[in-house]
Amino acid sequence: MPTSKSGLHVLVFPFPAQGHMLPVLDFTHQLAQHGFAITILVTPKNLPILNPLLSAHSSIQTLVFPFPHHPSIPCGAENVKDIGNHGTGPIIGALSKLNDQLIQWFKAHHSPPDVILSDFFLGWTQDMAHQIGIPRIAFYTSGAFITSVFYHLWQNIESLVSKNVVNFVDLPKSPSFIWDHLPSVFRRYRKSDPDWEIVKNGMIANMSSWGSIFNTFDALEEEYLQYLKKIMGHDRIFAVGPINLMGSPDRMGPCGSSTDTNQRVVKWLDGCPDRSVLYVCFGSQKSLSEAQMEALAAGLEQSGVRFIWVVMSTAQQMAQGCRFVLDGFEDRVSGKGIVIKGWAPQVSTLSHWAVGGILCHCGWNSVLEAMVAGVKILGWPMEAEQFVNARLLVDYLGAAFRICEGVDTVPDPIELACKISQSMRKDTIEMVRARELQDKALSTIKVGGSSKKNMDRLVKELAQLQGH
Ligand code: UDP
Repeated sequence: MPTSKSGLHVLVFPFPAQGHMLPVLDFTHQLAQHGFAITILVTPKNLPILNPLLSAHSSIQTLVFPFPHHPSIPCGAENVKDIGNHGTGPIIGALSKLNDQLIQWFKAHHSPPDVILSDFFLGWTQDMAHQIGIPRIAFYTSGAFITSVFYHLWQNIESLVSKNVVNFVDLPKSPSFIWDHLPSVFRRYRKSDPDWEIVKNGMIANMSSWGSIFNTFDALEEEYLQYLKKIMGHDRIFAVGPINLMGSPDRMGPCGSSTDTNQRVVKWLDGCPDRSVLYVCFGSQKSLSEAQMEALAAGLEQSGVRFIWVVMSTAQQMAQGCRFVLDGFEDRVSGKGIVIKGWAPQVSTLSHWAVGGILCHCGWNSVLEAMVAGVKILGWPMEAEQFVNARLLVDYLGAAFRICEGVDTVPDPIELACKISQSMRKDTIEMVRARELQDKALSTIKVGGSSKKNMDRLVKELAQLQGH
């Protein structure tokens, strides 16, 4: 591994949502291993998420700023999981108020960072980096296809707001999406709302960042990576994923360590046949409605397929006494299924030989983790960028199933059961393609692989930035 002798100091600024923080922290782990000096900026309530990283690297400094007050964010909420996906715009708006404080911090620092690496949701840092006079790197926690879609959407927003269908004629494969399937962060845009203007301007500013890092790999999204290189007009586009495959410090969920759950799950999985278990999880922030939970519970039970179901509930649902699952469900499925309430050790569970599939919302991290594990994806895209990810996986790559779609859809349990049992068969073409993708994902981070080469290239380019 080439080690940076440059002593380059990087300020890492993650966006406070679990699905954004985990890959940024995994990547920061890589940077630290390459010898870069790192300061990582968070607000107080997000500090515990850094614990595994800080334990692995005592040299990493933290910069903790109080979460700025925002009229539509409840007191104490500092992470998207605290308020749900609709809080993304306000959280971006609130964090942008750190601009002046950060500039002051830079001025007062005896050895300030040479470069800012921030999440693509924090595009406003592009202008701040410009004011300070240092380069900024945009970190994309999702792929190149969705970034190409975003580019087109934000550039043409005025002419698109009233469209039922948006055609992306300039993009490879010229996709079209109905309005409801466009990324929610775009659909929620409201002209003249200060938060949403910050979001829009930041997304556009991302395109002129010094460099861009993607949690994807060439063999998965080559044509969209090439498209972005053309748009951005340079070669500093680094596809270094799947990032968690490069090695990451232990992951900790928002509820703390999952050691006990892990042991229980592994013990149960050890007694299941090869590739027979379906892991069901809709990411770090999506809670299903009670009607959806009931339909899913019935569908899983009737499918006859073994399963592990991770059930997430919002603080609001808990306060309202929402039942986790149907009464008696856990007893009825005992031996056939496990319900985990809260946070599951997803990466290690997927890599168990007894797991053959994942039923998920097509969140990008889950998609990559499934790919690495070689399990098939049973997709239920709901919001955010998930419909775009599903298009890539199901329609372009033929490596996944679409078994339901829509954030409010309540599937018919019998139909769902049928789709689950058919998709979990071992002889499907989707399974073959999923295995091919797994091979590609595993080889991309090895010596000679594209993500490994891109990481080495990035390290070299970064080392040259010091003092510029
Ligand atoms: N995750 C986990 N355990 C859980 C729920 C989620 O480890 O119980 C992790 C999962 O492995 C993934 C991330 O949280 O890395 C979720 O990211 P994704 O992009 O799939 O969805 P999001 O949470 O952003 O909607």
